[in-house]
Amino acid sequence: MKKETIFIANWKMNLNMGTSEDLLKISREIIFEKHSNITIVFCPQFLLIPNLSRFFVDISNFYLGAQDCHYHVSGAFTGDSSIDLLKKFNCKYILSGHSERRIAYNESNADICKKINLINEFSLIPVLCIGESLADRKKKNYLKFLSKQILESIPEKTKKLIIAYEPIWSIGTGVLPSIQEINEISDFIEFCVKKNFPSIESLKILYGGSVNADNFENIILISNIDGCLVGGSSIKIEEYVKMLKKLI
Ligand code: PEP
Repeated sequence: MKKETIFIANWKMNLNMGTSEDLLKISREIIFEKHSNITIVFCPQFLLIPNLSRFFVDISNFYLGAQDCHYHVSGAFTGDSSIDLLKKFNCKYILSGHSERRIAYNESNADICKKINLINEFSLIPVLCIGESLADRKKKNYLKFLSKQILESIPEKTKKLIIAYEPIWSIGTGVLPSIQEINEISDFIEFCVKKNFPSIESLKILYGGSVNADNFENIILISNIDGCLVGGSSIKIEEYVKMLKKLI
């Protein structure tokens, strides 16, 4: 794959000690010493992170990420996890504002903005997830909705940012927007971010939602798309390996 590509696996609350190690071992073998232009990131559930951290120390282009973090470093936040420990265990990327967290835990754009602020302070890389519902898409309200998510979730002075466009109606459904629709949104994201956040020096835009071994190449070819955020297909070893082999 000629283009610089970021490929983030969001394992969600899946895989165990054995299956997660198997997936990382085989992925490492595939990309080890291949000096291609790809950045591979894995976001396991929190309890797997300490065990998996050792897979990421001596290999370039291969990174550990987290699915979330709290916006405080420590304190009385029962059930949450601290960015400080995530960094100590080698996490470099942190997802923020995934629609499953926005919906199940009522996370607001203001919460997400505080998280990204902390991620910036820790010199880690924020991956802001945005995406509209089917109702907003049908009402043709989606650009307004996405621009509100962008404007309210990005802290001033952010320098490095990845935005993953993940329409809620595409996550885990097998239904994808057309290439033209993804193109429209990636151009819009770039326009909106550049206009409102002059501090940003590096912006990468990913697509996420029902990506698999058959469709990801066409998505990656879209001029303004820098890679994919993959859920379901990233936990099926055969499917994932197929994608990695096509990428390198
Ligand atoms: C996700 O939830 O981030 C995602 C992209 O899921 P899936 O690939 O399963 O649609």
